Amino acid sequence: MKYRTLGKTGIKSSVLGFGAMRLPLNSENPEDVNTRETVKMVDYAVEHGINMFDTALLYHTNDRSKPGVSETILGQTLKEYGDEVHISTKMPSWNIDSWKYFDNTLNSHLERLGRDSIELFFIHSIKDSYYESIKENGLYSFIDRAIDDGRIEHAGFSTHGSYNLLEQVLSDYDSWEFVLTQQNYLDNEENPGLTGLKKLNKLNIGTMIMEPLRGGQLAQNLPPSIEEIFDKSEHDYSPIEWAFYYLWDKSEVNCVLSGMSNSEQVKHNIELADNAKTGMLSKDDYRLLDEIKEEYGKLNNIPCTSCNYCMPCPFGVNIPKCFYEYNMDKVSYSSNASIQYKFHLHEDRKAHNCTRCGKCVLKCPQSINIPEQLSIVEKHFGE
Ligand code: SF4
Ligand code: SF4
Repeated sequence: MKYRTLGKTGIKSSVLGFGAMRLPLNSENPEDVNTRETVKMVDYAVEHGINMFDTALLYHTNDRSKPGVSETILGQTLKEYGDEVHISTKMPSWNIDSWKYFDNTLNSHLERLGRDSIELFFIHSIKDSYYESIKENGLYSFIDRAIDDGRIEHAGFSTHGSYNLLEQVLSDYDSWEFVLTQQNYLDNEENPGLTGLKKLNKLNIGTMIMEPLRGGQLAQNLPPSIEEIFDKSEHDYSPIEWAFYYLWDKSEVNCVLSGMSNSEQVKHNIELADNAKTGMLSKDDYRLLDEIKEEYGKLNNIPCTSCNYCMPCPFGVNIPKCFYEYNMDKVSYSSNASIQYKFHLHEDRKAHNCTRCGKCVLKCPQSINIPEQLSIVEKHFGE
């Protein structure tokens, strides 16, 4: 395993971090986590050098008005490893409306994780639309106080917001020590893009990366036209290698979080992380990735990462599943996608149930116009 310093925190973080948002399940219920398999995966990860584990209040919940089970499971599983490992967790920023909320929620994080202090504490998904309001509700005095009384060791935030927002948040508070942003070879221009990464680096703020595989879209079932471009390369890297190497190639990237769902993924990703180094991609490799990005742009796939933040839909639509099967059918030409959508997805869960109520739209970190895209899915599958 390779390690990089997480900015001002001084923590030597493994270049690969274990994200606990897609843990293995026993059933379709996101709260029904297979703890036995999870423990196996975590033990293997720690034994092979992963020391960074990431969770959030809302990972693995059925109902986004209450905490999920990810923090509790991760807290219990990592207990035996003590200071050998680092845990980060995230408080939803969109619910912050008072001091009371901050304090009660922070204490509930500590309880679920089974710790007196949170080493790496994120404000989860700061957005342009409500940043001013959470600031007015006392964001910074809360963090100061929680650092002073020892409940938080290091403070950071995650965002899919604009570069301007990133600059604003950084200039409003000088105790931020690390930031989590979405980066992969398709999402590298905005929100807040490579420019954002460079800015963070300049300020010696630790950088963690989410969605390196864009919710799995860059890992498998690539569209044939994309495969053709990859085939032109002199390397025989797998799609997953391309995605990770693109990130580890950058000195600005400290830790790449990957939401792993089974032991094979953990083993495979660790093998790749052993190769991580800057300068591993050439100018030709970057030209190839630019070509890939351009081709993806033409394919019009829906940039859904299956994060489930938009769920549940009050009218029953399984939004991520609709988008996944659409992408698989329209963009990747998977022979199974149409069957999956038409015959295996329950009628009540299909796109045509969308009433355009709009409740999901603001929740989507990828800013997808969900009702509009669902009507495209509906037409595509000829409902
Ligand atoms: S806009 Fe459509 S998909 Fe979104 S919550 Fe409303 S009914 Fe569900
Ligand atoms: S539509 Fe947006 S919020 Fe819903 S699963 Fe996809 S990326 Fe996540």
